[in-house]
Amino acid sequence: MTAPPADIFVPPVLVVDLRGEPCVLRRDQWSPHLRRDPSRFRGVVLHQWASHVGTEARLRAKYKGEAGALARRGQHAPYAISCGVGLVTGEAVVSLAHPPERYTYASDSACAEFVSVGIMGRFPFEEDDRVEPRDTALTLALFAAVNRALSEAVAMLPGDGPWPLITHRQSINGPRDHVLCPGEASVVLAVASSAVRDGLLVPDPDYVVLPDWGRPWPASWRRHLNNERCAPSVSSGAATSFDSLVV
Ligand SMILES: [Zn+2]
Repeated sequence: MTAPPADIFVPPVLVVDLRGEPCVLRRDQWSPHLRRDPSRFRGVVLHQWASHVGTEARLRAKYKGEAGALARRGQHAPYAISCGVGLVTGEAVVSLAHPPERYTYASDSACAEFVSVGIMGRFPFEEDDRVEPRDTALTLALFAAVNRALSEAVAMLPGDGPWPLITHRQSINGPRDHVLCPGEASVVLAVASSAVRDGLLVPDPDYVVLPDWGRPWPASWRRHLNNERCAPSVSSGAATSFDSLVV
């Protein structure tokens, strides 16, 4: 089974909408002179932050708790939406960090027509190489955060769907881009999300945006697919258990 059981307890998620606030990214991380056109959006692309995510006590006080402080960190990452779990409280948070029109370096070129979701944490390319605490644990709170983030991303897409769900690996722009992003764990969580189970987002593991650079999913990521919910070209791969992977 790829999906969590129907009676699973999904922890609450704090959603913080910061889309109306001024951009705090560094000038080399975005352009105020370019805008994306949300009417051309055609899918969702998954990323990982590739780092652990702490918060300063000063900011936890300022933003009334760790989750609020964590949401603010989302503004310093280039993804339209960031999601994750506080290290202190274990609270799940979704940060609607940037308006969809904003042109950041995670929304350029091959990624321009996709809503980007960045999962806060560090995840190995393949789960077999996981080492904790170096890598971020897969928890129900993290699942809850990713689950909600993908629903929020769907709400930003035009039309009725379904829309493809891809990974950064598939939408890289050149030889030094992040072929390891977002890692197998991100795929495990996303494939189990309600947006995928309900057929709104359809994993498309073979699609690449720029054929010269994009890479399809490796076999390890495909183990988590339920083929009924994939793009029609997908025919192989046995789904593995969600709850055997989530602690
Ligand atoms: Zn990425």
